[in-house]
Amino acid sequence: MSEWSSDTLDPENWDEFRAQGHRMLDDILDYLENIRQRPVWQPIPALVRNSFHEPLPKSQTELADVHAIFMNSILPFAVGNAHPGFMGWVHGGGTPVGLLADMLSAGLNANLGGRNQIPVEVERQVIRWSCELFGFPDDASGLLMTGTSMANLLAVLVARTARLGQRVRQQGIAADGAKLVAYTSEAAHGCISQAMDLSGFGRNALRIIPVDADFRINIEALTHAIEADERSGLTPFMLIGTAGSVDVGAIDELDALASLAKDKGLWFHIDGAYGALAMLSPKLAPRLCGIEKADSLAFDFHKWGQVPYDAGCLLVRDGHMHYQTFASPSAYLRREVHGLAAGSPWPCDFGPDLSRSFRALKVWFTLKTYGQAKLGSMIAGTCTLASYLAGQIDAHPELERLAPVSLNIVCFRYCCDKPDKVNAQIVVALHESGIAAPSTTTLNGRLAIRVAIVNHRTRPSDIDALLKASIALGRSLVSKPTAKTS
Ligand SMILES: *Cc1c(COP(=O)(O)O)cnc(C)c1O
Repeated sequence: MSEWSSDTLDPENWDEFRAQGHRMLDDILDYLENIRQRPVWQPIPALVRNSFHEPLPKSQTELADVHAIFMNSILPFAVGNAHPGFMGWVHGGGTPVGLLADMLSAGLNANLGGRNQIPVEVERQVIRWSCELFGFPDDASGLLMTGTSMANLLAVLVARTARLGQRVRQQGIAADGAKLVAYTSEAAHGCISQAMDLSGFGRNALRIIPVDADFRINIEALTHAIEADERSGLTPFMLIGTAGSVDVGAIDELDALASLAKDKGLWFHIDGAYGALAMLSPKLAPRLCGIEKADSLAFDFHKWGQVPYDAGCLLVRDGHMHYQTFASPSAYLRREVHGLAAGSPWPCDFGPDLSRSFRALKVWFTLKTYGQAKLGSMIAGTCTLASYLAGQIDAHPELERLAPVSLNIVCFRYCCDKPDKVNAQIVVALHESGIAAPSTTTLNGRLAIRVAIVNHRTRPSDIDALLKASIALGRSLVSKPTAKTS
């Protein structure tokens, strides 16, 4: 034992550590409480960026000093999605409850791969709540994971096993899979073609179907594509609908897609990454009619659900098929009826991850603390703000809306010569102003300022500030605004 040193990683003085811990908690709560006084985002000084290029620390640094670096060089230079002026991409705002839950989860340091422990029961509870919310049966399965990109990939793998049988796990798709084709719309998220790529089918095995004027999949074109593939000897196996498209928030006609999938014997998957949680609001839920008929559903708690990153979810109607896609018995994961190795099946039987974080805890805390009614009205509130913004744009001679507003996403532009260039400049200038942070997208070949109101902290005054700054920037960038055509 002469080599053994008594160094643990625990503090030498717990009282001092505790005091430092309380200061850290206070600082991050101050950040959230006073976030409106900060810019949404700010450019990162080279000095700050370079400070993260230092060599591996060889010796100790006081925790208080490391925390000071966090406060000075990390916290002020994050993306800013906790800020009410953040309206870019689709980012959740996080909550103080989620923050505390994540702290507790880190302290417990549970590994959610499996075993006989209540943390796994908490995840199962979250999955059952999700099944209840979306009208999935009691024997449906589910799993929390990083996000919908991963959940969509897992869904493609389950659909593959459902079509080709479990032998595909041994043989690969080369033998029987070569003729399988899947369908989604051109408004679908890029991670769906990536899922086809990663699962070995290849991107060409995904048919990209055009959308209608409301950016929903064109069902007539979809039907024709399926029939054309059938005639040419291919095997349609999967249809992927979108509930809340990433560009404009469009919702495919889920009920009609469910019927078509049933008719044609296709696995019906829904990418509901951000939109599915509209189900929490009684006012919005009817818009998602048909979601309960999906064979699988991917969605994120970290977007509209405001759970701190990351927290994606996959639900599978046929829990057994889900299990058969991933379960991989091995000697060192042997199950028992009693003791710590009981409680099979385990979460690791439903996906590729063995070590898994206790992300279920922050989801559970969020659903339990706020409850469906409050979360639902928060979600509906972001849609009300989007309608307000759309109305303001429509009434303004220098602004033009570029897509219908289905949920909480508004796409518009400042009308001028060279609109693509100017509107891209407006967005960069908005970011650098710290006032608001929308993103951009391209719709029908036109660059749009894209405002996704996801953050529960956003208020009408934040929308007004965005509009005022956009118009002022537009005017300053062009000498002569042109009135909109329509
Ligand atoms: C955000 C999003 C995704 C990707 O989800 P991640 O959680 O970022 O992996 C997929 N589809 C849609 C419609 C999205 O909005």
